[in-house]
Amino acid sequence: MPRSFVREARKRVGPKKLRIKPVIERLAVEHADATIALKFASELELLVSVMLSAQTTDVNVNRVTTTLFQKYRKPEDYLAVPQEELERDIFATGFYRQKAKSLRGTMRMLLEEFDGEVPRTLVELVRLPGVARKTANVVSSELGNPEGVVVDTHVRRLSQRLGFTKEEDPVKIERDLVKLVPREDWARFPHLLIWHGRRVCNARRPLCEDCVVHDLCPASRV
Ligand code: SF4
Repeated sequence: MPRSFVREARKRVGPKKLRIKPVIERLAVEHADATIALKFASELELLVSVMLSAQTTDVNVNRVTTTLFQKYRKPEDYLAVPQEELERDIFATGFYRQKAKSLRGTMRMLLEEFDGEVPRTLVELVRLPGVARKTANVVSSELGNPEGVVVDTHVRRLSQRLGFTKEEDPVKIERDLVKLVPREDWARFPHLLIWHGRRVCNARRPLCEDCVVHDLCPASRV
């Protein structure tokens, strides 16, 4: 189980229902550039990038996909080479055997069941081999159809520190967040927390003195 930040939320700062809007508004001003860090030029490239991003950094994925996407342009291309060749091409993202297998299974299903297009709904996306709920959530959000709130390590930590959840499990955290975050903010909310987490609210030493929501945060150290 990863480290918990629930106990850091100790100060009284008012009910979360009253804090959520101002937190979103202030973070949106502070991180106006907060978008997905993966680079892609099509829906298929989005899906592949998100699948490759498991257990590695977005920077690493972007480095690999710069050349990968020149070679693999459509679902058929991933099936036209031996699995070992695809494994070599995605090697640097780690877990390359499993990822290559998932990619090929996904491409096969896209061709057989979705006319070669990337589906938009969570129900359809999670049917693709190797596509778990988090991946599906990221893809559907980026395609303009968010059906949930993406919970990664930053979203988990900041939601706990901000007192938006007391849960540890990502599925339960998401359940709390979809009740709290206005639906129109489901897609951008995770990006705001991710960028705030990277730039200000670090895991080890949050920079509370520089934080635009410190007066709304029960874990603030100032
Ligand atoms: S950096 Fe901001 S959000 Fe993070 S703990 Fe400090 S006050 Fe809270």
